[in-house]
Amino acid sequence: RANRKFHPENSIITIGDETIGGTKLGIIAGPCSVESEEQIVTIAKQLKQAGANFLRGGAFKPRTSPYSFQGLELEGLKMLQVAKAETGMPIVTELMSTKWVDQFVDSVDIIQIGARNMQNFDLLKEVGRTNTPVLLKRGLSATYKEWLMSAEYIMAGGNENVILCERGIRTFETETRNTLDIQAVPVIKELSHLPIIIDPSHAGGMSYLVEAGAKSGIVAGADGLMIEVHNDPANAWSDGEQCLTPDEFARLMEKARKLADFE
Ligand code: PEP
Ligand code: MN
Repeated sequence: RANRKFHPENSIITIGDETIGGTKLGIIAGPCSVESEEQIVTIAKQLKQAGANFLRGGAFKPRTSPYSFQGLELEGLKMLQVAKAETGMPIVTELMSTKWVDQFVDSVDIIQIGARNMQNFDLLKEVGRTNTPVLLKRGLSATYKEWLMSAEYIMAGGNENVILCERGIRTFETETRNTLDIQAVPVIKELSHLPIIIDPSHAGGMSYLVEAGAKSGIVAGADGLMIEVHNDPANAWSDGEQCLTPDEFARLMEKARKLADFE
């Protein structure tokens, strides 16, 4: 189902009034973690103003250490809904466990499956039974074929609304958090009809790398971007080093607009 051979046309995923995979770039932006209602509402307004189409924010966080902040969980989900009510922005947030599938279907616009869960086949099957669009991140060391097979798991259950997200892969390089694999864009487009977006924030792991990653993604033909933005990156509860400030994000959007068509 994910294979281009059986579906020559590009897929366009519709999320409310927005689309990903059409002619317009889909911009997903927001903090790594939802930290408070005030934080997420304030930032959502700034992001919308700067041109983002979707609001992201983690409520359930897949942290390397069990002692790191794990997310506000269902409280965070409610805060995202408040931000959506205030701004009209559709929300994207990560689902880590099959036990919250119903809550996510009721309250989010795009369910994110994180890199660490790309091959959590039970989770993939569960979201495959819903109609909610799914943002499937590439696993830390996943090949294109493995990644597309994970998309296939979701689609095999009847949910064809899959968006792929390249977020950097593990290589021998240690200077950057991951290595952004820009070739993922043309290769995925060759093999599949599914839309693909680029997440330069998790790829580089440092804010100064975001602009180059975002621009190369657009030039390579990606259907959108996911960018982490925080009002006070130095004090962010997670991933502060890679977050842009809202002003930096707005400047990036100005530059991105010159390379691609979006509002
Ligand atoms: C995230 O988007 O905050 C995240 C944890 O991403 P990834 O799964 O790509 O590491
Ligand atoms: Mn993050």
